Amino acid sequence: MTTQAFIHDEPASRVIFGCGSRQQVATELDALGARRALVLTTPDQVALGESIAALLGERSAGVYPGAVMHVPLEAARKALDVARECGVDACVAVGGGSTIGLAKAIALESSLPIIALPTTYAGSEMTPLYGITSDGQKQTGRDWKVAPRTVIYDPELSVSLPLAISVSSGMNAIAHAAEGLYAHNASPVHRLMAEEGIRALAKALPALQRDPGDLEARGNALYGAWLCGAVLGRVQMGLHHKLCHVLGGSFNLPHAELHTVMLPHALAYNAEAAPQALQALARALGTDDGIAGLIELGQRLGAPRSLQQIGMPAHGLERAADLAVAAPYPNPRALERTPLRALLQRAFDGVDPR
Ligand code: NAD
Repeated sequence: MTTQAFIHDEPASRVIFGCGSRQQVATELDALGARRALVLTTPDQVALGESIAALLGERSAGVYPGAVMHVPLEAARKALDVARECGVDACVAVGGGSTIGLAKAIALESSLPIIALPTTYAGSEMTPLYGITSDGQKQTGRDWKVAPRTVIYDPELSVSLPLAISVSSGMNAIAHAAEGLYAHNASPVHRLMAEEGIRALAKALPALQRDPGDLEARGNALYGAWLCGAVLGRVQMGLHHKLCHVLGGSFNLPHAELHTVMLPHALAYNAEAAPQALQALARALGTDDGIAGLIELGQRLGAPRSLQQIGMPAHGLERAADLAVAAPYPNPRALERTPLRALLQRAFDGVDPR
């Protein structure tokens, strides 16, 4: 129950979930009113792309395996040219955030609808967020026309995802939902989705570590990825995402590992200002203390614990603190340089954030 006012704005999106659900891709293309689609994927996932093209039969205009990390502008332009030359009226993106990112870059220029079949836990398929890189800079934006119209979650497609990427994209998804728990524009339903998404991934990731072929755990992880991605797409992120953006962009630190190191520290900073979010996190992790639960989960999964470990230079901490307070953004606790500098030091040393 809540007495607080809220807005719950749910843009139209269709989600098909279940083992074998990829078989429905042709029917779903018809349901969109589209006739022919270009299948997008990475060079590593060509065989999978071809199997989806086979399911589309005559509705497939072929497989374009041109997706690469961070959607370089050149790659986006080339893919758009191919889509135009083929005369397609939809794209089918089969893969992770990089492939879905390429489909979004095409949609941004052409408004072609996307059917996504995600094979990682990054969650891009549920968001209106896009990023295109040129001259080493990633330009990001938000536009609902790039959000996939239909998402087909088939756990069988994620079984081949290497354990290390499963863990890093899963922890990254947990970070989106954790900040969603205290986002100023989250509705009670968004908070339920965030809590359930964290619960599903926190259960699935240790099970995948024991057996990456465990189909039930793959299903739980994908279910969690759906919910966490939906939260990311619908509410505004706070301190944690700002710190990761600043640290990742300025010091070129590995994205997913950075999220895993920083999350307990950012949540500890906000803990007193967002007690209900911390309670929800603890419930999701099945513990009394959400921050301790997160640290324990990271340790069980062999994730790094300090900024130092992932290549952050000590001399960059002052600049990172300056950047973190430079532009205002919504966060439950006011952003003050002195405590933020102390937070960064604790994260650098890998000490307990509490
Ligand atoms: P990815 O798409 O870059 O894939 C990583 C590698 O794993 C690729 O080589 C891919 O071919 C391979 N792979 C993917 N699924 C596989 C599977 N099931 N089996 C075997 N190999 C597989 O990785 P990602 O983590 O999904 O995406 C990261 C990118 O997505 C980043 O650029 C990030 O910024 C972006 N992202 C965007 C949003 C958004 O809302 N726009 C959200 C999250 C992430």
